[in-house]
Amino acid sequence: MTMNDFRRDPAEVLAELAALREGDAPTHGGRVLSYVYDSGLAELDELSAAAARLVQPVNGLDPTTFTSVAAMEAGVVGFARRVFHGETDGSDSAEVVVGTVTSGGTESCLLAVKTARDVWRAARVGTPRMPRIVAPITVHAAFHKAAEYFGLVLDLVPVDPATGTLAASAIEDRLGDDVALVVVSAPSYPFASLDPVADVAAVCRARGIALHVDACIGGFALGFWPDELPAWDFRVPGVTSLSADLHKYGYAPKGVSVLLTRGRDRQRHQYFRTTGWPGYPVVNPTMTGSKPAGPLAAAWSITEVLGEDGFAELLAKTARATTALREVVEGIEGLRVVGVPTGPLFAVATDASVEPERRVDPHHWADAARGSGWFLQLQPGLAQPDGTRLPHTTHLTITPVTEQVVDELSTALVAAADAVRGVPQVDGQLVLAGLADALPGGVEPLLAASGGLDSDTAAGLLGAIGLLGGEGGGLPSQLAPVLALVEALPSELTGRLLVELLARVVEPVSPVE
Ligand SMILES: *Cc1c(COP(=O)(O)O)cnc(C)c1O
Repeated sequence: MTMNDFRRDPAEVLAELAALREGDAPTHGGRVLSYVYDSGLAELDELSAAAARLVQPVNGLDPTTFTSVAAMEAGVVGFARRVFHGETDGSDSAEVVVGTVTSGGTESCLLAVKTARDVWRAARVGTPRMPRIVAPITVHAAFHKAAEYFGLVLDLVPVDPATGTLAASAIEDRLGDDVALVVVSAPSYPFASLDPVADVAAVCRARGIALHVDACIGGFALGFWPDELPAWDFRVPGVTSLSADLHKYGYAPKGVSVLLTRGRDRQRHQYFRTTGWPGYPVVNPTMTGSKPAGPLAAAWSITEVLGEDGFAELLAKTARATTALREVVEGIEGLRVVGVPTGPLFAVATDASVEPERRVDPHHWADAARGSGWFLQLQPGLAQPDGTRLPHTTHLTITPVTEQVVDELSTALVAAADAVRGVPQVDGQLVLAGLADALPGGVEPLLAASGGLDSDTAAGLLGAIGLLGGEGGGLPSQLAPVLALVEALPSELTGRLLVELLARVVEPVSPVE
């Protein structure tokens, strides 16, 4: 086959892809304040691309065959171990911090749970009980996924509803022999609260319970943060594992994170191995088999090129931008920053201490900012297990590039607040009532069916909300009503609808007769 036999001209296909990319939210320039982490250095993106290109044909599955993978992985794990204070003289196997490069934060968290479960099981031969994970409610959803995938009970501990902070005693109260793992965050995604790692570690250690620090978002930021922080990493005895994403504040393209574990023997439980089939022996530290080496190569190159000093310099920019934006938001009448955020992210809620007509609803605020080209992330309110309610908020993640646009963004944030001040939060019950009118059978049968809805009914409901089947697809311009519905509907039903939405978005168009 030669190029003349190709069905389409590669250049034309690439042009089509470039046109599709035009429809994406902007990945560079600091206009999207979640999902993307722009160093502001085009050279780093070029470096990543070149590194990934070099290893493009490599299979990361086998570092003994493709030895570049072993060298790069050791390099990245070594870098992370220095940053997170996990270096020892190596003589004590139980204290040595070892690690694995994974495909992302979720895989790091999944593996931390699987490892802890298997360590727990190994010490309790014949124990039939399902082990528990104990974590604050602010813990990342990846741990919900891990509990579901690996058969553990996720026991969520309420946090202070006003500030999102966790009391170590609340974790301690839940500990028992069936706890395979405690998880804390450094910091949490929703409110950027730095959990009391040392206090939680002390009680876990006293009982021999494993403790994971989820530093997926914040690790490579807090590790270089200009202000003094309480110890939250391997300096704290009792921390048994830690995850940190290189595709966040490591500025690598998506698909790379690191999971560090204290103790060689503990970490060996992470591996899956079998020689019980007629093919090659399978020995996998991660969930995938064959895997790309590109994201690893990009991350390794970036750590080599920047070094600790380069990371610190980029973080200094990020920290300055974060401080500036927090001050701007704190100065906006009707809004408040939630709790005491640590690191380059924070959440914004309504300031209920001012008169209702002076309050700013964070979701209307985000929609107004979106109208001027700034994408903030809406977070729904949530009832905690103790009946208290976490506020609905808007989330901002700040990256090095943000410093270049701080003035422009500040102006937009102030203007957005002025545009919606006094507009009350969307009433989810009213949205629901409106929906009931639009649906032939009313909304009752849907609520009754809840998560058990069939696909076509779910799609019909999404259409009625305007989330499916509209012109050109994509999200509506106002997200506040959508989030209000998320808060008002039973979570089973919301979950089912969101599954339908995501599934339909990627479904190929059926050929017409
Ligand atoms: C991003 C994140 C994760 C999950 O990471 P992915 O890379 O999106 O899979 C886990 N924990 C926290 C705190 C995060 O912010």
